[in-house]
Amino acid sequence: MSEAEARPSNFIRQIIDKDLAEGKHTSVHTRFPPEPNGYLHIGHAKSICLNFGIAQDYQGQCNLRFDDTNPEKEDIEYVDSIKEDVKWLGFSWAGDIHYSSDYFDKLYEYALELIEKGLAYVEELTPEQIREYRGTLTHPGKDSPFRDRSVEENLALFEKMRSGGFKEGEACLRAKIDMSSSFMVMRDPVIYRVRFASHHQTGDKWCIYPMYDFTHCLSDALEGITHSICTLEFQDNRRLYDWVLDNLSVGCHPRQYEFSRLNLEYTVMSKRKLNQLVTEKLVEGWDDPRMPTISGLRRRGFTSASIREFCKRIGVTKQENTIEFSSLESCIRDDLNENAPRAMAVLDPVKVVIENYDADKVEYLKLANHPNKPEMGEREVPFTRELWIEREDFREEANKKYKRLVLGKEVRLRGAYVVKAERVEKDENGEITTIFCTCDPETLGNNPSDGRKIKGVIHWVSVEKGLPAEIRVYDRLFTIPNPGAASDFKATINPDSLIKKQGVVEAGLKKAQAGETFQFERIGYFCPDNKDSTADALVFNRTVGLRDTWAKIEAK
Ligand code: ATP
Ligand code: MG
Repeated sequence: MSEAEARPSNFIRQIIDKDLAEGKHTSVHTRFPPEPNGYLHIGHAKSICLNFGIAQDYQGQCNLRFDDTNPEKEDIEYVDSIKEDVKWLGFSWAGDIHYSSDYFDKLYEYALELIEKGLAYVEELTPEQIREYRGTLTHPGKDSPFRDRSVEENLALFEKMRSGGFKEGEACLRAKIDMSSSFMVMRDPVIYRVRFASHHQTGDKWCIYPMYDFTHCLSDALEGITHSICTLEFQDNRRLYDWVLDNLSVGCHPRQYEFSRLNLEYTVMSKRKLNQLVTEKLVEGWDDPRMPTISGLRRRGFTSASIREFCKRIGVTKQENTIEFSSLESCIRDDLNENAPRAMAVLDPVKVVIENYDADKVEYLKLANHPNKPEMGEREVPFTRELWIEREDFREEANKKYKRLVLGKEVRLRGAYVVKAERVEKDENGEITTIFCTCDPETLGNNPSDGRKIKGVIHWVSVEKGLPAEIRVYDRLFTIPNPGAASDFKATINPDSLIKKQGVVEAGLKKAQAGETFQFERIGYFCPDNKDSTADALVFNRTVGLRDTWAKIEAK
């Protein structure tokens, strides 16, 4: 990573500092363990920045491990997108990619070890009965009639499970712990179940699959992870994590630490809900620029630096909270205000004709790419007799507060001349079609010589030289801060979250590349759409407006 990103400390880093100081570890090894059942989102970015960031700062290592124990829900498309997103965020994993499924043989051996130690049994209650026997938070569970089978019988039945002798739901393997534990996860949790499903890595080799709680701790141990960092909902599962490792001869016992997950206003983060938006075509795909996914944010024009900065600003604690959407936006705005080249585009064009400017004349005006950064250079912008300006930048009449073009008054065209609106032409509906102006030829690069004060500056694009472009103006995907809590989150989708406009952009933007973001002067930040934009049919996405327009609305 090029930028020097000072790392604020957090409770996990304090634990690591202590472990290193006490000699408990000599190096740090973390992992990021996504389940390949969806695309990564901004919440995952928090976990990625934490795990990979720790590895970087302590000169340790961070593994990328696909936690792939649910073959039905997982897909290689997700594996590929996750790899791409982690790389794009600026991180590299240690060595090869790992898959929990790499350990299926070993996990099977560990299951046998538990059975042999009398610590696991094959259950033949139905899933409903298992639920019933488990009890509740206020009532202890009761032992299954199959709990005290002999080791031999359990070995034979587990072999029957493995070889396809049981249908799904007919049998499972359970750890024998404590049916009256106050931690529900310790009430003889299921550790293996029957699934006749093809797996994206292991094909049809297995018809039994290990459960998350059994797989995760053992995968961590097998990889020599020192600090296994996860989100708070796994706090109780830590008991089971430790129980498995304490009872098996693995020779390594990583420690699990939990932090609070990222919740962000005006969006949903559950992969199940995001998946619904995609499959029900309520958005264009996982990388729809309105999605909180990494690929969506990238397509929207977010930089990876702005996402890392966001993760730094929100910090890592054990406190549950919800972050305002505007704090994500302010990270990208801060980045782009510094780094995005300026350009001119008109989103809602109305024509201006400068009657005292030659019809066949073109002047290539030099405009700075950044007002405060001469090192970003200049570009040539063609100026012609006919121009587009924003419809909202003209009024036939207006008071002094309106510092744009008004009939009979003057305004500065950005980087060009001072023009005066003389008259308008309208269509049969009374809509203005053309504004006829005159320009003061002395004002290119100068103030009027007679001392007239010109208050406003507006942007423009040449009619002859400008290029048509579809401009997609995005807004928050949901109308309420916490759509996840609504009875029907899909009913709270913002119908105005995407507005497509036919605009015009300055000629130089023909060369705009995916991954570049521009400030369209006076409007906001925009990037070429990385899927749909071509040199002949430009499409720009609005990353974010110039300032936070929601702050005003919310304050009302
Ligand atoms: P979901 O509940 O939507 O299925 P998940 O947490 O199961 O998401 P995983 O793919 O298992 O998704 O997550 C990989 C890692 O990312 C886990 O360590 C998880 O704790 C972390 N993670 C997921 N969501 C968030 C979030 N909102 N904030 C911080 N970390 C998260
Ligand atoms: Mg998960």
